[in-house]
Amino acid sequence: MYCIPEDTCSLPNEQLLSKAEIISVAKTFVNNYGVKKIRLTGGEPLVRSDAREIFEELSHLPVELAITTNGILLDRYVDFFESIGMRSINISLDTLNEGRFTNITKSPAIEKVKSNIDLLLKKNFSLKINNVVMRGVNDDEIIDFVRMTKDLPLHVRFIEFMPFNGNNWYTDDVFSYNEIIERIHNSYSIEKLDDHPNSTSKSYKAKGYEGTFSVISSITAPFCDSCNRLRVTADGKFRNCLFAKGEIDLLSALRQGVDITKLIHDEVTEKAYMHGGMQQLSDDKDISSRISDRSMLQIGG
Ligand code: SF4
Repeated sequence: MYCIPEDTCSLPNEQLLSKAEIISVAKTFVNNYGVKKIRLTGGEPLVRSDAREIFEELSHLPVELAITTNGILLDRYVDFFESIGMRSINISLDTLNEGRFTNITKSPAIEKVKSNIDLLLKKNFSLKINNVVMRGVNDDEIIDFVRMTKDLPLHVRFIEFMPFNGNNWYTDDVFSYNEIIERIHNSYSIEKLDDHPNSTSKSYKAKGYEGTFSVISSITAPFCDSCNRLRVTADGKFRNCLFAKGEIDLLSALRQGVDITKLIHDEVTEKAYMHGGMQQLSDDKDISSRISDRSMLQIGG
């Protein structure tokens, strides 16, 4: 609903990074620039037929490996992930309601996602639930998600709704960091937890609960000054920010035998102070199509 515009078409495989190109790009970042963590996102990374081989090869690099997934195919991969030592999994889940899940995701697979969450918890994976909070769509479930952390070592991340190409975003749709905390505070005694210096989220815990929760306040309290994330899209474009106006074509460079090391350096040094160079996200009618030239699906979150 918010990450795939209706007119989206799949790209042919030859326009996507091959397995070997993904590994080559990853090695450049790790060996030349000291990248310590690689997260595979989507679309949905586990629908690639060579996902297993990609994870396997990346697991030999000196990095923490992680994935963000819709959770539907995880049961097919859980033993494999254990075997390569990949323990960090983020699952996107915006609602616990079956009908609402189908409306948001266009998929009826909520029970599969829930059972895969149970499976991963049984196997002691480090599990985060990503929940994009949209006013009037799912903000009434915030407390239900906090309740999930009562007896489970889960971390729920409430994410402010962000504008991307074709997702019809308006500032009124954003259920803000302050509103989320106020909503939770009305039902729970909560404590603030320490955050990592480069964390994108502000962490909390309901007193006496086993799990934790946090808010990613991209819109109302941006954390761009400490952001150290870089993104490479499935079609091999390098972006220095989620909202970057431009991108570097690593795929073409690789196929022409160009050394991508300098391209990456130059793009990183061009990174804007905040939100890809926008000081303010306005409530312009067409903001979601102008704010980023790509949908969330094409960037990978
Ligand atoms: S908007 Fe760009 S700079 Fe700010 S946190 Fe997101 S990716 Fe980082």
